[in-house]
Amino acid sequence: VNALFKRLRNKLTETIGRRLRRGATYAVEKVQEIPDRIEGHTLYLVGLTKPWSAALLCPCGCGEVIHISLLENDAPSWRLDLTEANSPSLAPSIWRKEGCQSHFFLRSGRIVWFRAKDAAGRAKE
Ligand SMILES: [Zn+2]
Repeated sequence: VNALFKRLRNKLTETIGRRLRRGATYAVEKVQEIPDRIEGHTLYLVGLTKPWSAALLCPCGCGEVIHISLLENDAPSWRLDLTEANSPSLAPSIWRKEGCQSHFFLRSGRIVWFRAKDAAGRAKE
């Protein structure tokens, strides 16, 4: 009975740990097509062998779905890198030109917001 309890406890700790990590970083989900309802903190990759398209919920919370192309010959297109733990990075940054105007990077599964003053500083140099 004790061993069973220990196993259950370990399993629970593992599940909670995974949820916490998933909350903080983006997970990758390979799909055949973008589902109607998409989850936050998830980068959907279309194309089961080599992904050619990706989608994610806008991280600002506006509820818009951002679709991007991963095809080299498309303009614009993004390059996807995955770490060993499947944390996605996208280059260049994503900049919504309509709606919320969000501008951010996805780096190793984390959203890094683009700060306008960085660009202003560079422009003045
Ligand atoms: Zn937004």
